[in-house]
Amino acid sequence: MNAPLTLREASCADDYDPNAMAVDRARILIRQFLSPVTATERVHIRAALNRVLAQQVVSPIAVPAHDNSAMDGWAVRFADLRTEGDTELKRVGESFAGKPHNGPIGPGETVRIFTGGIMPKGADSVVMQERATEIDGGVRVPAGALAKAGQNRRFAGEDLKQGQVVFALGQPVRPAELGMLASLGINEVDVYRKLRVAFFSTGDELKSIGTPLAEGQIYDSNRYTLYGMLSRLNCDIVDMGVVPDVPEELERAFADAAASADVVITSGGVSVGEADYVKQLLDKLGEVLFWKIAMKPGRPLAYGKIGGAHFFGLPGNPVAVMVTFYAFVRDALLVLSGRRDTGPMPTFKAVLSAPIRKAPGRTEFQRGILSPDGAGGWNVHTTGDQGSGILSSMSQANCFIVLPTQTGNIAAGEMVDVQLLEGLI
Ligand code: AMP
Ligand code: MG
Repeated sequence: MNAPLTLREASCADDYDPNAMAVDRARILIRQFLSPVTATERVHIRAALNRVLAQQVVSPIAVPAHDNSAMDGWAVRFADLRTEGDTELKRVGESFAGKPHNGPIGPGETVRIFTGGIMPKGADSVVMQERATEIDGGVRVPAGALAKAGQNRRFAGEDLKQGQVVFALGQPVRPAELGMLASLGINEVDVYRKLRVAFFSTGDELKSIGTPLAEGQIYDSNRYTLYGMLSRLNCDIVDMGVVPDVPEELERAFADAAASADVVITSGGVSVGEADYVKQLLDKLGEVLFWKIAMKPGRPLAYGKIGGAHFFGLPGNPVAVMVTFYAFVRDALLVLSGRRDTGPMPTFKAVLSAPIRKAPGRTEFQRGILSPDGAGGWNVHTTGDQGSGILSSMSQANCFIVLPTQTGNIAAGEMVDVQLLEGLI
């Protein structure tokens, strides 16, 4: 097995080119330094929503526990049914969900059964009530009401078998998992502790909301998009505010953030011109690599360790913050929080409905609007101006149009890759 790279080695890796790091390459390099949290806590399953299981779950029971009916109807013995003409069966009882019929049924007998009712012994199939006619003391079933034995019957353990591994370590707990845990009668699980993520914005021009703007100043919006994206990932959030481009203040902020969090995220200050003193600072405090990623938006990116904390230095432009977060930070946070099933966000193909201009050389994440084409497929077009400061493009978009590095201009009618933003933003 290859020993993991150190950060210094990563910066010297064969195909490492600080001026044109491919998106996938950067993601893979970052991944090598991520070790998931190990601390766990035991919580009620409701509190486990959006957390990650720190235990295997083995089914203590079978679900369902008994063979039961999938329909409202009549529990029958398939062999009793005539292949031509009607069959009349004698009603010997009822089986409701939670209130079974006691005892078996014999030849020529039936039990009125409702969805979830336990199958009486001897019965192997259920005739839907719509396919039969109730008669005095029983039911009349026409030929062909059942195609084969076993129809409309759910089998014990068909969802989960007793002793089966239901969830592996690292399983994210979503609504389906909550329901499954409840179906097994489990009310508490071990989950990994939440990731603690500290972030701040850098820039002399930035003001926090609630204060008036002087000329040339802008409101800090990155802390709010970051807050939103991190909240959706269920992280513990430490908002450290705005830090001006003053070396002593930045140094203190980096040190404080790293001391209090698993992950430190900043925006701004990593572009050419600003990067130099941030770089000097971070060289002093930890080991940080500055990359120029071959992507648009989001060219500058810093990644490294400050003490025990992972550090992501995102660009300042508001759209670039979101794009680099989804391209790099999200996946890293999922890995750190204990997920085992992570990877790049899935893409699918859609037809471009208006041409796109693009120069080869960078992977572009254009903001797109995906809409049904009326014939079962999907069309996509951009939101318009793709400037990296135009945050409204992220609000209008429902997808990224991902244009690979080598791609140039694209004509209308061509297929492009899209990544859905639904649920992410
Ligand atoms: P920088 O990467 O620091 O050079 O910033 C690039 C651009 O993004 C500049 O126009 C900044 O004013 C803007 N910017 C940086 N940080 C923020 C922020 N937190 N909120 C809004 N805009 C920002
Ligand atoms: Mg700046």
